[in-house]
Amino acid sequence: MPIKPENRTRYPHNWKQMRAAILDRARHCCEWCGIADGSTRGATKIVLTIAHLDHTPEHNDPDNLRALCQRCHLAYDAKHHQQTAYQTRRAGKAKGDLFSNENKP
Ligand SMILES: [Zn+2]
Repeated sequence: MPIKPENRTRYPHNWKQMRAAILDRARHCCEWCGIADGSTRGATKIVLTIAHLDHTPEHNDPDNLRALCQRCHLAYDAKHHQQTAYQTRRAGKAKGDLFSNENKP
């Protein structure tokens, strides 16, 4: 995933080097499915990106970082987005509960 502009400042100054170190560790292959950086799958050119397993850009411990292809990264993020949406819905519901009493006669 490209770095979102609002998150850019959350990345460390040496992110380039850190990214390179993770890619080296992964031997330039996706750490989950093993596909090589720069190879192709169907019509898609594989570009490895670095995923933060806890989705926190400040948490740059190598254990928290994975070199992933687009498919693995998207699948991982989709799971996270699902959970986040669930939490947002829950929070919204809780808010609704709070205010629902006000509307009672
Ligand atoms: Zn992969």
